[in-house]
Amino acid sequence: MKARTRRPVIALGLIALLFTGFEVATRLERGAIAAQSPIVASDSAIAHRVDRAQLMDDVRTLSSNQFDGRRTASPGGVKARAWIAAAFLSIGLQPAGTSGFTEPFAFTHHSIRGLVTSGRQYTTEYKDAANLLGTLRGSIADAPYIVVSAHYDHLGNDGVHVFPGADDNASGVATLLAAARWFAAHPPRHSFLFAAFDAEEEGLKGSQTFVASGLLPAARMAIDVNMDMVSRNPHNEIFAAGTYQTPWLKPVLQEVQRRSGVKILLGHDRPIHKAGGVEDWTDLSDQGAFHDAHVPFLYFGVEDHADYHQPTDTADKIDPRFFGDVADMIVETLVTLDQQIH
Ligand SMILES: [Zn+2]
Repeated sequence: MKARTRRPVIALGLIALLFTGFEVATRLERGAIAAQSPIVASDSAIAHRVDRAQLMDDVRTLSSNQFDGRRTASPGGVKARAWIAAAFLSIGLQPAGTSGFTEPFAFTHHSIRGLVTSGRQYTTEYKDAANLLGTLRGSIADAPYIVVSAHYDHLGNDGVHVFPGADDNASGVATLLAAARWFAAHPPRHSFLFAAFDAEEEGLKGSQTFVASGLLPAARMAIDVNMDMVSRNPHNEIFAAGTYQTPWLKPVLQEVQRRSGVKILLGHDRPIHKAGGVEDWTDLSDQGAFHDAHVPFLYFGVEDHADYHQPTDTADKIDPRFFGDVADMIVETLVTLDQQIH
């Protein structure tokens, strides 16, 4: 066969090989996840750490119309910021921002989405964005910090619909506040930084700004535990991503599983050449900024559901039992990390 006719055949062969390899990797990865059969704890064995009524109140409040979908720098977003700062103060956190609890920042965002979404444009100047940062001192003075993070911003409203963002990510912020309340009442060994990030929906801008700011140098961070969408799943499952990058987290989560009312699945953290079509979530929420700075991360999140980024992501869709068990599990994970990190 002449050389010029061989090339397309080779190219086709390579494409077929790549596609097959991708398919095989996808099936193997799905199989590995499905093969995980964590055993949930009985009710009496579950480690109860959070006030579940308060947890649901906070998620209902944050996803209510008064915050108008919490878009970055919008009146609703600014109002949510004040509400979270007041919660930090009432819990007894120490201000760790550049102005009290807040770390104001500005940025310009270019978004393809802006070209096709009503109420948005391609280029947007965000002049009034801000993270919220509060600390709790630990008993070991120079121990590295445990960072607990969740973004508080969401999509706002498009002139027709408000996007409440109950699961995305009022649930993460409510869990962060529950964790802060627990450690305020049960002083930890490590110092904790609680970070409610802004502008995650605009490309992780808040967490990137914080990590780049040096307010807390990466060398002073033991781990970032990030929560984004933690309140709904029909299979009683939540994913923990980050054990691929940080293998010592695996036995920690296996130990926590024995006191957890939900199934903790490990995954969504392996690169495409290993996991095929099973999405790698490493850079899909704020843990990505920490990962880029070589800070170990642990990300908790549920599989996407039909209400993801829809006006229908409302608090009444949240199962308080599942969400309560998830929040208890996450705080139990933080307690275990605080004990085990040296
Ligand atoms: Zn989110």
